[in-house]
Amino acid sequence: MAKELKDRYKVVIMGSGPAGLTAALYTARANLEPIVFEGLEAGGQLTLTTDVENFPGFPEGILGPELMDSMRKQAERFGAKCVLGEITEVDFSKKPFRIKTSNNELETDTFIISSGATAKMLGLESEKKLLGRGVSTCATCDGFFFRDQELVVVGGGDSAMEEATFLTKFASKVTIVHRREELRASKIMQDRAFKNEKIHFLWDSVVEEVLGDEKNGVSGVRIKNIKTGKTSTVECQGMFVAIGHQPNTHLFEGQLDMDKDGYLITNDKTSETNIDGVFAAGDVQDKRYRQAITAAGSGCMAAMDAERYLEHHEES
Ligand code: NAP
Repeated sequence: MAKELKDRYKVVIMGSGPAGLTAALYTARANLEPIVFEGLEAGGQLTLTTDVENFPGFPEGILGPELMDSMRKQAERFGAKCVLGEITEVDFSKKPFRIKTSNNELETDTFIISSGATAKMLGLESEKKLLGRGVSTCATCDGFFFRDQELVVVGGGDSAMEEATFLTKFASKVTIVHRREELRASKIMQDRAFKNEKIHFLWDSVVEEVLGDEKNGVSGVRIKNIKTGKTSTVECQGMFVAIGHQPNTHLFEGQLDMDKDGYLITNDKTSETNIDGVFAAGDVQDKRYRQAITAAGSGCMAAMDAERYLEHHEES
């Protein structure tokens, strides 16, 4: 990687999910020769899912990794350069901006941040093994696969209530497992879940193990009541982990404006951050929608904003 890189770019993109690769496609087609730092694992969160059925244009659905592969090829066709590698340091204090990776230093006129957010996981070995095989972090993406089946949702916040309520459209029963006896979710979301006859609650409880195997998927979860210490098994065909997301923004602390949860703040209806020439797209600035298609849309916005910024600065 080291010898192929230039010292200076017009556009550097951090992250290779739908936001980053759409930004790469658009900036490449504008002849800006972008470089995408893909991170240590290319493709973002979609590489953790199997079938994607809600990305328009694929009537039969498409595998997450395949979709990401196609997006990368499409961007590369127009001259985008995608490299595996992590950006370890950024300096936005003067222009051009300075970027460090694990083995390079380079300069760039604009920087598009599409480093995404990472769904928090319980940290169990069995959860990792069955991720995408019955364990999911996205009800909108995967709920459809669980028609008439029984599901467990872990968490007590708005996400857990929203996911559980959404999943009752498909599932015959949804059990919310929460580690306390009181929910964190807003009153309205709680009420909606309490009123739903398909939703049941297991209080003061944590998941100790996800049962099942890679071939047949999830068959249940082993639960421990943290007050009594008693364990029990809940049979289910899927487990949705909804305990929050962590935006990947630690690199920008002290340089870019963020909200209390660490999401980057963009100017109203644009991808502009508080620093001219630095743009944000996708889940790193969106805790509300978090969909591949919305991320792709905001990647397009960031590319157009960067293009306009460059045009303006070349003229002046
Ligand atoms: P959250 O509010 O941080 O809630 C996370 C939940 O997961 C909490 O109940 C927490 O338990 C539990 N949890 C965390 N770590 C856990 C662990 N290791 N094991 C078991 N349980 C664990 O996250 P969120 O629900 O994703 O919401 C994030 C933000 O987005 C919030 O501001 C929320 O209001 C917003 N949001 C809004 C909507 C909406 O309005 N439609 C929908 C979704 C999200 P404790 O309660 O014990 O800490």
